[in-house]
Amino acid sequence: MEIIIIGAGSAGLLSALMIKNKIPKCNITIIKDPDTKVIGVGESTVGSFITMLKDHIGIDIDDFIKNVKPVTKHGLLFNFGKKDFNYSFDRTFDLEQNGNYLPNGFYFEGGDINHSEESTHIFNKTNTEPIYSKGGLNLNNKLSLEYLEKIAIEKGIKIINGKIISVERIDNNIKSLNKKHKADYFIDCSGFNSLLSEEKWVSYNDSLINDKALFFEITNKRNYNIRPYTQATTMKCGWLWEIDHADNTTSCGYVHSSKYTSDKESLKEVEQKLKIKIKDYRIIPFKTGRLEKHWVGNVITIGNADGFIEPLESTSLMIILQLSLQISYILKYGDKKNDLIDDYNKFVNKYYDNIRDFILIHFCFNNKINNKYWKDYKKRIGKLSKNSLGYEIVHYYLRNNTHIRFLTHTYNDENPFGLEGWYSILRGLIPTETDRKKWLVKLEKGKE
Ligand SMILES: Cc1cc2nc3c(=O)[nH]c(=O)nc-3n(C[C@H](O)[C@H](O)[C@H](O)COP(=O)(O)OP(=O)(O)OC[C@H]3O[C@@H](n4cnc5c(N)ncnc54)[C@H](O)[C@@H]3O)c2cc1C
Repeated sequence: MEIIIIGAGSAGLLSALMIKNKIPKCNITIIKDPDTKVIGVGESTVGSFITMLKDHIGIDIDDFIKNVKPVTKHGLLFNFGKKDFNYSFDRTFDLEQNGNYLPNGFYFEGGDINHSEESTHIFNKTNTEPIYSKGGLNLNNKLSLEYLEKIAIEKGIKIINGKIISVERIDNNIKSLNKKHKADYFIDCSGFNSLLSEEKWVSYNDSLINDKALFFEITNKRNYNIRPYTQATTMKCGWLWEIDHADNTTSCGYVHSSKYTSDKESLKEVEQKLKIKIKDYRIIPFKTGRLEKHWVGNVITIGNADGFIEPLESTSLMIILQLSLQISYILKYGDKKNDLIDDYNKFVNKYYDNIRDFILIHFCFNNKINNKYWKDYKKRIGKLSKNSLGYEIVHYYLRNNTHIRFLTHTYNDENPFGLEGWYSILRGLIPTETDRKKWLVKLEKGKE
């Protein structure tokens, strides 16, 4: 089987490695345009990252850590809502402890989300050295891509320079690229250029507001202490991420909406917030949404070319790994009648839409600042469709607190955060019964 992948960003490299690991006999060529740089952000991961690299891509984690020098990420510290709260990747609610018959969440009466022993231990800790766990990582994007490229070449994946300027098609299939590159399958990992797909773009603009990030790096001034989590801070028109690296730098990004603030204003706001002067920064525009179909004929799209939600919760690398795993299974076992591909397209749509809803509730329920941006976000609670999984979980929570036995349908693969993730955010943002009651009325009316 011959596969051509366009792009050598995280999407191109991770999916090439995934497919090569699952189907060693296939020939993979990555074509990358030396004049189009990779996006250069995508540094933070979810809790399953190491397991995916190790178990499904076959990467030697010790070697990865030695070369890429990531920092362990145990979760996020949210400066959202009335009070800061920890969203730990460790299980707070669904663990059955102390011989209890029901999970912790059932007994979680008026408790504080920051209560869990594990969570307190981790989030209070500051480290002079990066520490490693089995979970998530904060990566140095450049080092990580260099490493993945080196491993790809070692595993027999060909990487060549070239700019794709023409696509020859017969019906739904691509015949060749630039009239010379032919393959059985073409995987589009060209980032926001989204070169190969002819499918409709389903925008998330009506629910998610942000469309830009102001990205910069600073020197870590906390006496070399490294935070083993991502810090997410509420800003006037969005939020700020801070990710510490092992080399004493912190990468930061103010994710905001160009409809509510300008580049200049956002720079000023962030400088005031962090009490620093920022000399070098990059404004990264992005669009949120997904394609209507992700695999058509012999064309598959992955990464930013396929869909993007927004960096809060760092979901893109997780999506890339999860989808390339599924693609590799379908490619391996074949799908002559296209049934699996149809299923795949349906699955991916639900997967993206569920993540979109999960991100949406972070914003809608955040009552830290009460300006136009945040008021407008609150109104968007009505975008949670009554048939969606997100609506069901939020509705249960507002009615029952966390006192419910786990719903079986929240465990399915389409909901990567599980009930655990949703409860952590809901509990952090809406901790009191009074607020739960108020929100229940608003949710049922479909508006703020
Ligand atoms: C502000 C922001 C913050 C983010 N933070 C995170 C995060 O913390 N965690 C996370 O998981 N994700 C994050 N993401 C998403 C992240 O960008 C992606 O996960 C990841 O970098 C994948 O990018 P990509 O490979 O799809 O595209 P890119 O990195 O843009 O790579 C595109 C590739 O395609 C090639 N190419 C383009 N056009 C052509 C052409 N015509 N011919 C040949 N080659 C071509 C380029 O040369 C390049 O190699 C963030 C995104 C944004 C916008």
